Amino acid sequence: MVHRIGRDNVVYSMSAENSSAIVVNSGDTVIVETEDCFSHAIVSEKQTVGRNFDFSHINPATGPIGVQGAKPGDTLVVSVEKIEVDDTGVMETCPGWGPAGNLVTECVTEIVKIESGCAVFMNKKLKISPMIGVIGNSPESGSISCGTPGIHGGNLDTVDIREGSKIYLPVFVEGGNLSLGDVHAKMGDGEVCGTGIEIRAVVTIRIEIEKRTIEGPIVECDNAFYVIHSEKNFEEASRGAVERAVRLIAESNSIPLSRAYMLASISCDLLVSQVVNPLVTVRMRIPKEIL
Ligand code: CA
Ligand code: ZN
Repeated sequence: MVHRIGRDNVVYSMSAENSSAIVVNSGDTVIVETEDCFSHAIVSEKQTVGRNFDFSHINPATGPIGVQGAKPGDTLVVSVEKIEVDDTGVMETCPGWGPAGNLVTECVTEIVKIESGCAVFMNKKLKISPMIGVIGNSPESGSISCGTPGIHGGNLDTVDIREGSKIYLPVFVEGGNLSLGDVHAKMGDGEVCGTGIEIRAVVTIRIEIEKRTIEGPIVECDNAFYVIHSEKNFEEASRGAVERAVRLIAESNSIPLSRAYMLASISCDLLVSQVVNPLVTVRMRIPKEIL
């Protein structure tokens, strides 16, 4: 069955208390209208987040989408079938944002047009590669702002969460309660200035329940799996991603952790997803040939 959920159904935090906006069955398709990360409040270069900006409405995620029969301990598998972006996106940077935010003297906005598959930025035409910034399930307890990433998903800002990918997310509450938003028409690893090309989109997903337990978000692409992990600094995020990847490699090959660690060292890449959210996100790329 095909469902549609509009961008008027949004949450600003993922919470065990949220109730589902719609309920679907495993195997159903959902067409999800997503809002941009500023709730479409910045539509001209005269507007910036520096002036009278309402920070209570950032990072809206459309949902929650409940999946009939999903139980804590299960995994939701979200196949991203299509991401159709709007024809105009927005970028923003401000003093102090990201590793080189000292180069910026005041908040600046850049409106970016999308024309026949390219973003037009300062007269450069750059091929777009749309991705989903925020995607996650409700956590076990409490409430996590959609601006923050974690083992439930959230603001992962990972370029591999794109058309053709599958995202595996742990289920913590009945139904899972998936929400997603914050599409970027284009972004580089790190998201260094604090934003990608932030844009409204219509995302077509297929959702299935898998009766197995995972430790945190995993993305599957053509040739690889990516174990995604977020912690307060790069060292801790790296340790989490590498440990989770090594455990997966050891289990699937029935080899000791020490040998799986060696195999990871020669075959896997430790990559940066983003360094600008409240927690840093990294990912370990595991080529399918070693799993
Ligand atoms: Ca984001
Ligand atoms: Zn964003």
